[in-house]
Amino acid sequence: MNRIAVLGATGSIGTSCLDVIAAHGSRLQVAALTAHARWESLAQQCHQFKPQFAVISDPAVRAQMGGNAFPRETEVLFGPDALERISAHPDVDTVVCGIVGAAGLRGAWAAIEAKKRVAIANKETLVVAGPLVMDLAARTGADLIPVDSEHSAIFQALLGGRRKDLKRIVLTASGGPFRGWSKERLERDVTIERALAHPTWQMGPKITVDSASMMNKALEVIEARWLFDLEFDQIGVMIHPQSIVHSFVEFIDGSVLAQLSPPDMKLPIQYALTYPERWTASGPSMNWAQSYQLEFFPPDLEAFPALQLGFEVARRGGTCGAVLNAGNEVAVQRFLDGSLKFTEIPQACGDILNGHNFDAQPSLSELLRLDEWARKEMQAWKSSQSTC
Ligand code: NDP
Ligand code: MG
Repeated sequence: MNRIAVLGATGSIGTSCLDVIAAHGSRLQVAALTAHARWESLAQQCHQFKPQFAVISDPAVRAQMGGNAFPRETEVLFGPDALERISAHPDVDTVVCGIVGAAGLRGAWAAIEAKKRVAIANKETLVVAGPLVMDLAARTGADLIPVDSEHSAIFQALLGGRRKDLKRIVLTASGGPFRGWSKERLERDVTIERALAHPTWQMGPKITVDSASMMNKALEVIEARWLFDLEFDQIGVMIHPQSIVHSFVEFIDGSVLAQLSPPDMKLPIQYALTYPERWTASGPSMNWAQSYQLEFFPPDLEAFPALQLGFEVARRGGTCGAVLNAGNEVAVQRFLDGSLKFTEIPQACGDILNGHNFDAQPSLSELLRLDEWARKEMQAWKSSQSTC
């Protein structure tokens, strides 16, 4: 029995993960579930899955909660420290990192330190501290398996050849709701509702806005750089509106391997839990009785400058990932509360990146300090400061 802690259980990844666990109840068991503030949804999940632990990471929630919301067999813990405790707990075999943002780093770090199988959806962990996280995993021997669909695809396709024969990888991107839009149209016609309406994937609001700006692909380029130990110029991006081909791996002899499946996160989540085994699908499969048209286009870096920032940050490394990520998290919040225009997201992130004190080999505490700094800078950013 694989005993699983789902960090961020109430989110999009978390609920898909619980669907996978429910579909394979004889082999997968929920050991712990966590949420930040949505304690009622968490309590419902606990009644269904009866975990040993539930964690509510926002300590302010304690005062609002009714007495008997959770089942008797579940111990409820509060605060971000509890995330680390359950991630390292001896009764947990696998930790699914489904928290959004840099807030996911602590739980992922604790799980890797404790040598768990770590199914990592939280790309921000690798964007902020990729080299340190990979170094920790190498030291402890923890299995770090990607859940992000593109990285899962690369992980799977890499099994088809020797690592030293790899030439490059190509991440696919749906292009989001604004695919094909010009810079001018993006300035003029983007609304919050449109940015939150992704054409192919159902996801949480932060990653949905990131997909619309292509910042998501930027973060994924950085994630891939560290996860697969690649040079920045070994990573390409192609727009693929159908979201069926989840990425490509090209070997030195010119052979290209890809992984295909309908756009649904249950497959990459399940594979991260079962690797190297494959179990019966818990989500949709390809329908070979219908026709598919698969298209691929190069990305428009002028209309979507966030992607260019991703390539630059992947090239420079050091403190850049932490600064870009924190700046972007606040920029997305500001866009959603109406205080920042959509096209200002990459502009403001670029300004803050250019203004930070770069260090090529930062410690974890330095990265966390810069994360805080970049959040404050982004909160205060006004377009008149722009150098563009
Ligand atoms: P959601 O917004 O749907 O869910 C986020 C989860 O994290 C919720 O359980 C939320 O709790 C919890 N959470 C939010 N803030 C904090 C915090 N400060 N501390 C602890 N927990 C917190 O996000 P997604 O599921 O869409 O994304 C999760 C991660 O997976 C992201 O890193 C994303 O980039 C990545 N990912 C997601 C994909 C998807 O299809 N959704 C695809 C590939 C990667 P509460 O409900 O209480 O707010
Ligand atoms: Mg992805």
